[in-house]
Amino acid sequence: MALIVQKYGGTSVGTTERIKNVAQRVARFKAQGHQVVVVVSAMSGETNRLIGLAKGIQSNPDPREMDVLVATGEQVTIALLSMALMEMGLKAKSYTGAQVRILTDNAFTKARILSIDEENLRRDLNAGYVAVVAGFQGVDERGNITTLGRGGSDTTGVALAAALKADECQIYTDVDGVYTTDPRIVPEARKLKTITFEEMLEMASLGSKVLQIRSVEFAGKYKVKLRVLSSFEEEGEGTLITFEEDAMEQPIISGIAFNRDEAKVTVLGVPDRPGIAYAILGPVAEANIDVDMIIQNVGADGTTTDFTFTVHRNEFAKALGILKAAQGSIGAREVKGDDKITKVSLVGVGMRSHSGIASSMFKTLAAEGINIQMISTSEIKISVVIDEKYLELAVRVLHKAFNLEHAA
Ligand code: ADP
Ligand code: ASP
Ligand code: MG
Repeated sequence: MALIVQKYGGTSVGTTERIKNVAQRVARFKAQGHQVVVVVSAMSGETNRLIGLAKGIQSNPDPREMDVLVATGEQVTIALLSMALMEMGLKAKSYTGAQVRILTDNAFTKARILSIDEENLRRDLNAGYVAVVAGFQGVDERGNITTLGRGGSDTTGVALAAALKADECQIYTDVDGVYTTDPRIVPEARKLKTITFEEMLEMASLGSKVLQIRSVEFAGKYKVKLRVLSSFEEEGEGTLITFEEDAMEQPIISGIAFNRDEAKVTVLGVPDRPGIAYAILGPVAEANIDVDMIIQNVGADGTTTDFTFTVHRNEFAKALGILKAAQGSIGAREVKGDDKITKVSLVGVGMRSHSGIASSMFKTLAAEGINIQMISTSEIKISVVIDEKYLELAVRVLHKAFNLEHAA
């Protein structure tokens, strides 16, 4: 007998028919003698619909009320799934985040889990119940409802698996595993049998939305056995996130990630003197805006410099406004922005032992006439910022150039 946490995403619970299918899968695991905790997302499209309602009333919705609102999506699915399980003759009980007591900090809309009280769940499991828990939501110490950021149900699943010391956490979604890149962009993308935690972390942080980055961080920290599978297929091993690198099967590049959620801000012609980076980024940091890539070029005259950085698109207007307001005090000639960009990244632990990957990437993009606007590298990734209109082309040609459609 094993204790398994299963998480089902929005598409997998998108209709009552699909909720019944989920109940059948859960029933099969119960019939094999396992204890099952199920975490569900809101029905597909529901979270976006709720956010849309809020924005129709407040252009910048109050974060506390936003969480009260969007947490309702998951409350619908826990109840429906519990009913579907009961209809099949199983004992089932739903839990909101607060009812479990998934305690978070109070950073509304992007809260972090601090602790989980797993006693009630364990008691139910021992009494033969399937525990059905709302993903994405928690409660702060004052009793306020909080949510964990978009895609946060993955994190609920993994965090519960860690707290319950589950044997496995299974993430059921609308694809049958983690692919070399998003199969919706590149049909030739190949499913990976395994991917290392390090690589999955990079893929998630660079924009692959198949797993929320915090879920991968949790799994790595608490050594949770994590697998991504399809909720639409009966069979299949999915993709296992592993701790070991398989030396035999290690390709140089494991995958390509992309992020359409960034925008760039450029400050032109600022005096090149100590303290200028701080003068530009200090006010941005004070406004709680996270900066991703940064480049600075000294101008031809040697006395001025151009400074470019990227931020999340949601915060683009705010960042641009801050710098336009500070243009005079910084002494900049011009401040401009562009939100029609995409970041494309190659990821692979094999890069450590191979040189020339960056130049092959640049050559491949050049051959298609794709201009690179920014570059950043680390030990196991290379990212470039390009015009968003070239996203699909860039990912497709890189996928081919690095031979990702064929197993290593
Ligand atoms: P869920 O609602 O189940 O949480 P998501 O939409 O959050 O599902 O995540 C699954 C989606 O992630 C897939 O439909 C796919 O388009 C996208 N995706 C992006 N990159 C990858 C990748 N490397 N492998 C698999 N899927 C990916
Ligand atoms: N329903 C939430 C969202 O759409 C959480 C999730 O699906 O993981 O982001
Ligand atoms: Mg998701």
